Amino acid sequence: MKPPVTVLCPTCQTAKQVKYVGMLAYCSPECLIADRVIISSTGCWEWSGFRDHQGYGSLYWSGVYRAHRFSYKVIYGIDPGSLLVRHKCDNPPCVNPDHLELGTAQQNSDDCVSRNRQARGERHTVSVLDEKAVLAIRASSLSPKQLSKLHGVNVNTIHQVISRKTWKHI
Ligand SMILES: [Zn+2]
Ligand SMILES: [Zn+2]
Repeated sequence: MKPPVTVLCPTCQTAKQVKYVGMLAYCSPECLIADRVIISSTGCWEWSGFRDHQGYGSLYWSGVYRAHRFSYKVIYGIDPGSLLVRHKCDNPPCVNPDHLELGTAQQNSDDCVSRNRQARGERHTVSVLDEKAVLAIRASSLSPKQLSKLHGVNVNTIHQVISRKTWKHI
């Protein structure tokens, strides 16, 4: 075992001990968020780190999180669990907690319909996962049971996706 190394938090300069140099040195999730957002003219906190192909920020903090869900959990101290964290500003990379609210999957699809964002011809079939769903499942902190409810598929299907027995190519 190598001795821990002392590094400074990039945001607030608090010293922290890490096992390896190069490991993320943020002293807290708040500092991680503060260092990874660019505030837009509309007040959105746009994620400057990795974004998935739906435009949502993604981050690693003892597990992979979607940035807006992470921000909601950190700032409000409430784990959204099986609920969705929705964007009141309709801007996927935004992690401003003031622009986020909890909602259900049903509300979200109602929103999509009302905003006419749903691609024509692309029906939501509850029994089939698509690539986006697979990535979301693998990135999610929810339990397989919660995920199976959310995506309307069997819990075994979720297990197979997570363990890469299915959808190996992505
Ligand atoms: Zn800090
Ligand atoms: Zn916003």
